[in-house]
Amino acid sequence: MPLNILILGGTAEARRLADRLAGDTRLRATLSLAGRTTEPIPVSLPVRFGGFGGVEGLRRYIADNGVDALVVATHPFAARIAANGAAAATAEKLPVLRLLRAPWVRHEGDDWHEFPDLPSLVDALGPVPRRVFVTVGRQEAHGFERAPQHRYLFRSIDPITPPLDLPDAEFLLARGPFGADVEMALMRGRGIEILVAKASGGTATYGKIEAARRLRLPVYLVARPVAADLPEVRTVDAVIAWLAQLSALRGE
Ligand code: NAP
Repeated sequence: MPLNILILGGTAEARRLADRLAGDTRLRATLSLAGRTTEPIPVSLPVRFGGFGGVEGLRRYIADNGVDALVVATHPFAARIAANGAAAATAEKLPVLRLLRAPWVRHEGDDWHEFPDLPSLVDALGPVPRRVFVTVGRQEAHGFERAPQHRYLFRSIDPITPPLDLPDAEFLLARGPFGADVEMALMRGRGIEILVAKASGGTATYGKIEAARRLRLPVYLVARPVAADLPEVRTVDAVIAWLAQLSALRGE
């Protein structure tokens, strides 16, 4: 019997893993997405959409579908689903692995200001109107309504709904990855003074961080939430090696 894998996704890494596993006859894998993005990029594995209904719902899904192993490949800021994955795997005595992208490392010339949450970051933008480039995703964009004095450029994959109650906001719909040169041109062209981002890590959205360094712009970062208590790897290759080991153990 092939190993039955559930991948909790919603990231480029999960998509890459899914594409690598498609066609591997040692296992059967399903990618789970929360369903936030209206047009997710297609992958070569079966996909299920929507929440499970907390830890209990995830446990039920695992039991009902005969899942043998869980890979938590969600975004570093998606703290709830990772914690739920950890709790459900423990309760169901399931092998589990977290695929978590490497954090960004500060380089010389980086002017980073880190905040524990978005409200404290927004308040730190200060009373003087600034031109702010916001790249935290649409789910938390409404947090900027508490600082209507700034001139904003928001970038997100899908439109922000309901519309933001801000007098000076411009919207860019785009999906990464974005290279540093393109990011530099964008920031320079729009007269950006501050970049706001989540300290997500990884390579796909690092271009803006490099661009800000080259332009000597301050970067206001929301710090990563504490990671769920799970064994962790950084690369898709490491997940594949782990799965190969599991499937070999099973074959014995
Ligand atoms: P979250 O706060 O950790 O999760 C909220 C709820 O959404 C979870 O309790 C779960 O509902 C459902 N959920 C989340 N990921 C799921 C998945 N892969 N499959 C099925 N249900 C899922 O997560 P979030 O911040 O809303 O992020 C949602 C998704 O977007 C994640 O898959 C994440 O990887 C991706 N994403 C998030 C960010 C970010 O900055 N937060 C950025 C890029 C991509 P139930 O409790 O009902 O199971």
